[in-house]
Amino acid sequence: MPWNFDYLIVGAGFAGLTAAERLCRIHHKTCLVVEKRKHLGGNAYDRYDDHGVLIHNYGPHYFRTNSDRIKDYLSQFTEWHPVDYNILSHTGGTYWKFPINLNTFEQIIGRPSTSEEMEAWLEEKRVPIENPANSEEVIISQVGWELYEKFFKGYTLKQWKRHPRDLDASVCGRIPIRTNRDDRYLREEFQALPKAGYTRMFERMIEACGDSIKILLNTDYREILPHTSFGRMIYTGPIDEFYDCRYGSLPYRSLRFENESFGAEELREREQVSGKPGFWQPAMQVNYPNEEDFTRIVEVKHATGQQCANTTIVREYPDDFGPGKEPYYPIPAPDAAALYKRYKELADAEKDVSFIGRLATYRYYNMDQVVGMALAEVDKIQAADA
Ligand code: FAD
Ligand code: UDP
Repeated sequence: MPWNFDYLIVGAGFAGLTAAERLCRIHHKTCLVVEKRKHLGGNAYDRYDDHGVLIHNYGPHYFRTNSDRIKDYLSQFTEWHPVDYNILSHTGGTYWKFPINLNTFEQIIGRPSTSEEMEAWLEEKRVPIENPANSEEVIISQVGWELYEKFFKGYTLKQWKRHPRDLDASVCGRIPIRTNRDDRYLREEFQALPKAGYTRMFERMIEACGDSIKILLNTDYREILPHTSFGRMIYTGPIDEFYDCRYGSLPYRSLRFENESFGAEELREREQVSGKPGFWQPAMQVNYPNEEDFTRIVEVKHATGQQCANTTIVREYPDDFGPGKEPYYPIPAPDAAALYKRYKELADAEKDVSFIGRLATYRYYNMDQVVGMALAEVDKIQAADA
């Protein structure tokens, strides 16, 4: 006797779980969510490590949004811990204020300054480009070559194994550059983390669905297809894999995470560097654009506000994508977009499958954008069914 569900949802990340929750709770459908990893949450999964520290398992996930709809939607399942996401950039032996702002400028010139002076300085450095077409142009048109080479070029080469000239302007363009003292890493109005963590929030989304939802972890959806009948599939995995890579594989960047934990005793010795008892480094994230092989060290305890004597830092090394590795980043570049377009044509012709999320639409989306996309897709499906 095959299983029977209204929806088969592939992937238990933000996209899949948002769609499942809405379909079960608001539209009274039944959903089977199949996830090949052994946990919920996709790349936003967080957990307590062996040292009792709450960590983001797959790199730092800073929630932010300008959308009330998205914030209100998730607020049903979590309270929030407001955070100003502050980071630093380390190069040439100095911790620089980052993203570039008036404080950074003062570090560069070695004395107090003003927004007006910084504006005038940048005006001389900027390369006039009306419509920056790539990630090099978007930075040199704002701050010139010197700061581009200090903070962006090396980081971007490491992260993407591509020259910034060969990446869309949106990649480096997402980093704000300011002439005031606002040194928050992100631009959005609402910046906060789920108070009890992402995983707890995902569990509450599922709990709210009662018996209408079934979650199957540790399972590739292809394994259960012969035993399952369903009306529609919502697919959040890589779009090229869905089509057995028939036009060739889309390019992705992967990552390797190296975790290191410290106890209270060791942290006392680090206080001179971190400036704060119980911490290893002076900010939740320090970027390493030049001298190191890793791109950043994240100590997410700064952001979660967890009270814990221990701490854990994570060094993040960019890696080639291949067998056994996760496709963390779709590559925002014209050649990849052209190949994706061919897969999208196939996807658009599917009657009973929706493709949503970062991998299925091959877009460098943030979490809130993925939630917005899932909410919109459910609205669309329901409008079509009505
Ligand atoms: P995913 O989270 O990738 O979920 C898709 C799921 O589908 C995965 O769990 C996968 O295992 C599963 N799957 C794939 N194929 C199959 C299959 N065949 N069968 C069953 N299951 C399958 N966003 C922010 O807003 N702020 C940040 O600070 C931020 N930082 C990030 C840092 C890193 C290092 C990375 C990689 C991403 C970051 N993001 C951030 C982006 C964020 O992770 C994504 O926007 C979001 O998690 C995408 O959700 P999703 O459901 O589309 O995809
Ligand atoms: N970037 C950079 N230097 C930095 C930080 C970011 O050159 O110190 C560039 C780099 O190309 C990176 C992109 O800006 O991939 C986006 O950075 P973000 O921190 O938003 O990356 P994510 O958290 O998505 O990995």
